[in-house]
Amino acid sequence: MGLRRFIQASYFQCARTSGILKHVRYKPPSLVQWRHSGSSLYKAVIFDMGGVLLPSPYRVAVEWEVRNHIPPGTIKQALISGGENRPWMRYMRGELTSAAFLQEFGQQCSEIANFSVPVDSFLSDLTSSQMSKQLPIMTEALECIRAEGLKTAVLSNNFYLHSGVSFLPLDRNQFDVVIESCREGICKPDPRIYTLCLERLGVQPKESIFLDDIGQNLKAAAQLGIKTVKVDDPEAALKELETYLGFPLWGFVPQTRLVRPTMEIPKDPLQKYLEEVLGGRTTGPLILRQFSHGQSNPTYYIKFGDRHLVLRKKPPGNLLPTAHAVEREYRVLKALAEAGVPVPKVLALCEDSSIIGTPFYLMEYCTGHIYKDHSLPGLDPGQRRAIYSAMNKVLCKIHGVDLKAAGLEDYGKHGNYVQRQVQTWTKQYRATETHTIPAMERLIEWLPLHLPGNQKTTVVHGDFRLDNLIFHPEGPEVLAVLDWELSTLGDPISDVAYNCMAHYVPSHCDMLKGLKDCDVTQLGIPTAEEYFQMYCEHMGIPPIENWNFYMAFSFFRVAAILQGVYKRSLTGQASSAAAESGGKQVELMANLAWDFATKEGFRVFKECPAAKPLARPYSTWTRNGAFSRRNYVTVAPSSPAHTSNAHLILSPDGLPGRAQDLYRKLRRFMEIHVYPAEQVLRDHQVSQSRWTPHPLIEELKDKAKAEGLWNLFLPVENDPEVKYGAGLTNQEFSHLCELMGTSLFAPEIFNCSAPDTGNMEVLVRYGTEEQKERWLQPLLDGKIRSCFAMTEPQVASSDATNIEASVVEEKGFYILNGHKWWISGALDPRCQLCVFMGKTDPEAQRHKQQSMLLVPMDAPGITVTRPLSVFGEEDPPAGHGEILFENVRVPKENILLGPGRGFEIAQGRLGPGRIHHCMRLIGYSERALALMKKRVTSRVAFGKPLAEQGTILEDIAKSRAEIEQARLLVLKAALLMDTAGNKAAALEIAMIKTVAPLMALRVIDRAIQAFGAAGLSNDYPLAQFFAWARALRLADGPDEVHRTAVAKLELKR
Ligand SMILES: Cc1cc2nc3c(=O)[nH]c(=O)nc-3n(C[C@H](O)[C@H](O)[C@H](O)COP(=O)(O)OP(=O)(O)OC[C@H]3O[C@@H](n4cnc5c(N)ncnc54)[C@H](O)[C@@H]3O)c2cc1C
Repeated sequence: MGLRRFIQASYFQCARTSGILKHVRYKPPSLVQWRHSGSSLYKAVIFDMGGVLLPSPYRVAVEWEVRNHIPPGTIKQALISGGENRPWMRYMRGELTSAAFLQEFGQQCSEIANFSVPVDSFLSDLTSSQMSKQLPIMTEALECIRAEGLKTAVLSNNFYLHSGVSFLPLDRNQFDVVIESCREGICKPDPRIYTLCLERLGVQPKESIFLDDIGQNLKAAAQLGIKTVKVDDPEAALKELETYLGFPLWGFVPQTRLVRPTMEIPKDPLQKYLEEVLGGRTTGPLILRQFSHGQSNPTYYIKFGDRHLVLRKKPPGNLLPTAHAVEREYRVLKALAEAGVPVPKVLALCEDSSIIGTPFYLMEYCTGHIYKDHSLPGLDPGQRRAIYSAMNKVLCKIHGVDLKAAGLEDYGKHGNYVQRQVQTWTKQYRATETHTIPAMERLIEWLPLHLPGNQKTTVVHGDFRLDNLIFHPEGPEVLAVLDWELSTLGDPISDVAYNCMAHYVPSHCDMLKGLKDCDVTQLGIPTAEEYFQMYCEHMGIPPIENWNFYMAFSFFRVAAILQGVYKRSLTGQASSAAAESGGKQVELMANLAWDFATKEGFRVFKECPAAKPLARPYSTWTRNGAFSRRNYVTVAPSSPAHTSNAHLILSPDGLPGRAQDLYRKLRRFMEIHVYPAEQVLRDHQVSQSRWTPHPLIEELKDKAKAEGLWNLFLPVENDPEVKYGAGLTNQEFSHLCELMGTSLFAPEIFNCSAPDTGNMEVLVRYGTEEQKERWLQPLLDGKIRSCFAMTEPQVASSDATNIEASVVEEKGFYILNGHKWWISGALDPRCQLCVFMGKTDPEAQRHKQQSMLLVPMDAPGITVTRPLSVFGEEDPPAGHGEILFENVRVPKENILLGPGRGFEIAQGRLGPGRIHHCMRLIGYSERALALMKKRVTSRVAFGKPLAEQGTILEDIAKSRAEIEQARLLVLKAALLMDTAGNKAAALEIAMIKTVAPLMALRVIDRAIQAFGAAGLSNDYPLAQFFAWARALRLADGPDEVHRTAVAKLELKR
């Protein structure tokens, strides 16, 4: 289905498969008054196969007997006599192979005929190609039945052929249900097979009609309450069927049905008008059908005399002046036809509402072939390529129309098409939003920042798809482009991208049967990239570099449209399953859009250095403070935040204005308040009162908050309205986070410490308004602290799918049981929230078993049994707790996002927060190196300062080089997260997570060595830095896991 179908727009599907009308075999009695299917009692029609859809097997038997000099009636008698276990019945129940059947059936016939009857050739005749041809009147009847919204089934007593394949020479697509006796092991007239068929159709016996040529089969059906039609003469049977259904079973036109009662138009005035417009010679009965889709502009098929036409009108009632602009469609079709674009030929525009009640226009009904399936089954690779090439050329033809010459200069606004579209669809999306879709949030932020610069203005179709084209039945020639309702003036590349969407949509998608699961190259279909290239070649323009942007835009637009449909389905009559699948499609489209945004971001990122070579104006290390300062930049400091996203900012001096101000303030705060407080705080950590937070921390938190140095960590991407954080990009925060990392106490003072940061990110992204109010706000205010409980002692928790804690639903509550350990922050008396991960459904798919819940730390059943220590350090007052959860009850509303979404949240939780540790590790290392340099220049051994010892010099050099390398990787990961998204940055994130702790360990170790024994003491931060760097090789997931991820991604590249 196409875009317009989702916007409830109108249609003029004016195609028919060539020759379809030739199937009309008989006419209805002129006096029959057809009822509309809406008023039909029946919901399904069930057909027998042989003798109903296919020619009668009894006739074959008669002819075969004559040809083979067998007494007449032998076969018929063998077929019907002998009870349930006669060979024919066993054969139809799939109990006999062909060979066994022929042997037993031959014997049965021989006994009846009293001489040997070789029946092999009878079976061959029965299954011959002539017997396998469906009766054309039946084909048309099936089409008519389905067009009126009824279901169809074939209920066949059939058998397996020699090849082992069942005999069913029918196009299965004609039926909603296919029942084959040999597969089911039961056959007519066993009532169970009818019941099975009804069940699969989802209808009651009295809602169905059954057609068969055998009386006993019909009798069994009638006994169940099914209406029956005996088929002796197929034509007569269909006439009888018509009387029950209330509509004709002839005259089918693809995509059409009888005119709906509310959509009828007066025939007489229309006929008069047609006679005038077409010239007096066209006369005859006027046949009207309605195209099935579209309520906004009703569209009708007309057969008048020998003319096949399409009429498209405005709907009745009061309309907005710009809506339902059939005049506009008429105008563009006329102009395009004159410009040589293949479109249906328009015949007349009637603006006089007195004829049929509203204005309308007429066009020729085009014949040809519409390819519904983008994989073009049945064609060879060369033919497929030719079809795609023809489609591409016709699009170029549309885009090449000279607006002035065609009189279409005022057909739409000029310029900024994509921008206007993004605004429109963002507004529409917001108006129909039902829940937060992270990808849509990111796109709404991202698209306006990446709009294409030079947009051309041409006619754009707005819904250009393969199945909106009518092809010549014999070759790759486009005869007509349909569906111009969304056409306007705009950026032509948006049509090309829209045209390529099918390449990325899976084949099972309701909206569009896509090509994602196909090997397009093998099929001969150009890849999307090749299709874009083909377009550029046909248009004679340079390659479109930012085509990923246009793909992102196309999928975004569709996601926004589908969201509107989804919202309506929630309030309307749609079943909950249909509504749910609608909701999933929005997310599918949004995620596809975001994948393209990511690719585009990556492309921009990769092109950055070439476009803007890194400048390094100066590099000094002259500061007198605790450690050195770096001063090299790649962009002007005045760049706005989003521009800076696209460039590596190697030094804090390269930060854009506000971020740089924050950095300077932060540095001053560190120097004035944090470094001087360290020794007091370190001493407190080994005192008796260590499990009570030191009041100095709260004091410094208040000061930091007052200075605006608060919640700096929340990336603007997750907090686009800067409601919660400081609105910094990941890259900007990297520099500030590194600075905080130079002191182990600093992150908490600025409310930027783990695990609160990760938990806050989760609440921002996935929390409901109530959850945010209860937990996020106090966390953002620094009033409470939190912990994250995933790891369990009894399982290898580096693999999160191993966790065993159980979460069981019970009367509006979840009951939690589990044993967790290494839960950082759990001992802090301010810790009031635990984000708990457990399994709600251990039987579900591996990554859908887990859920995350918000658990108040004072809930009954939670026992923190002990603090664990890292190299003897307990890290008070936060600590790392071992915790028992025993029958802990939390209300159902405390679940995050919903059952089975825990793994997904865990992935999201590790978004930007994943590299905060790395940023801080660079800070540890800078501080360690700064302390080392100071120490070695002032301390003398063996007659000269340590700094003059060769090994010390070498250590300093190594440390500087290693810090620089790691920082570059941190910044690259952060920049990629900003520009291309967390997913695209997965490789860099995994790399830096293994690189940063190892680098820090080496740098800190060298510093400790240079300090001598003092380096191991608590008089300096070095020992603690070392312990934490070591712990981080596990705490954030073991190194090996990150390295495995790197290798896997590398192997995929
Ligand atoms: C200081 C600290 C703080 C922590 N804070 C928290 C917290 O707040 N909340 C929380 O839930 N958890 C926390 N943890 C726990 C941490 O997340 C886990 O220790 C970590 O995920 C590893 O799990 P595990 O200890 O069960 O090791 P296991 O899973 O048993 O792994 C043991 C070892 O097996 C090897 N290994 C595992 N997988 C692979 C692989 N794919 N390839 C090769 N080798 C492999 C590695 O060498 C690994 O170290 C913390 C840990 C520490 C040290």
